[in-house]
Amino acid sequence: MILTDTHTHLYSEAFDDDREVAIKDAIAKGVGRFFIPAIDSSYTNAMLKLEAAHPENVFLMMGLHPTHVNKDYLEELSHVEEMLAKRQFYAIGEIGIDLYWDKTFLKEQQEAFRHQIQLAKEYKLPIVIHCRDAFDEIFEVLESEKSADLYGIFHCFTGTLKQAKQAISYNMKLGIGGVVTFKNGKIDTFLNEIDLKHIVLETDSPYLAPTPYRGKRNESAYIVTIAEKIAQLYKKELKEIAEITTQNSKDVFGV
Ligand SMILES: [Zn+2]
Repeated sequence: MILTDTHTHLYSEAFDDDREVAIKDAIAKGVGRFFIPAIDSSYTNAMLKLEAAHPENVFLMMGLHPTHVNKDYLEELSHVEEMLAKRQFYAIGEIGIDLYWDKTFLKEQQEAFRHQIQLAKEYKLPIVIHCRDAFDEIFEVLESEKSADLYGIFHCFTGTLKQAKQAISYNMKLGIGGVVTFKNGKIDTFLNEIDLKHIVLETDSPYLAPTPYRGKRNESAYIVTIAEKIAQLYKKELKEIAEITTQNSKDVFGV
């Protein structure tokens, strides 16, 4: 059984004390593929180091996270472009719009999102979308940029059934994580109406640990807990969920 964590910030400071233990533990539980979203240039070296230590298991993305779009965002976008020109990445992410924390840079967030979508098309890469309190704003950009060569993952999907279908209509898979195990997470009430071919698994670790670890540090090993919940919702074996969602991740990332 091979499970895939399509979204984990393993380079985060939260793992500085025991990163190798967390990676070993995840691999021992069958979670052997880690897709690593970028945040901003301050983390690039840590990401490269992580990949050098685990070249078989770690797959890097490049991008500027919407909560890190501020006055110097053009410089940050130059860094993204430089890195993309220099070496291989497996997606542009995470990118998008976040109006939960701060609306000051909405215009810049929209511009950065659109610009990075265009980079994804240029490099023929998928995008990994971060959306918080911003479905309308995200869909507006996707609507104007939609094309056969725009595809990717709607990371940490927490919307309605209607929003799920809309995301899928833009060639996006739904990244399902710990929220599906939450009592008030809501997506568990309709998820099985979505064909499994549209679902990938993710932790977003160190954030959003699934029940019963909610509130603690999240880790890639907990993909198993998320997969078990999905197996229950779709009335399938865990093994089958692993197989389908890992195949879906290969379809998106090309690896
Ligand atoms: Zn993330």
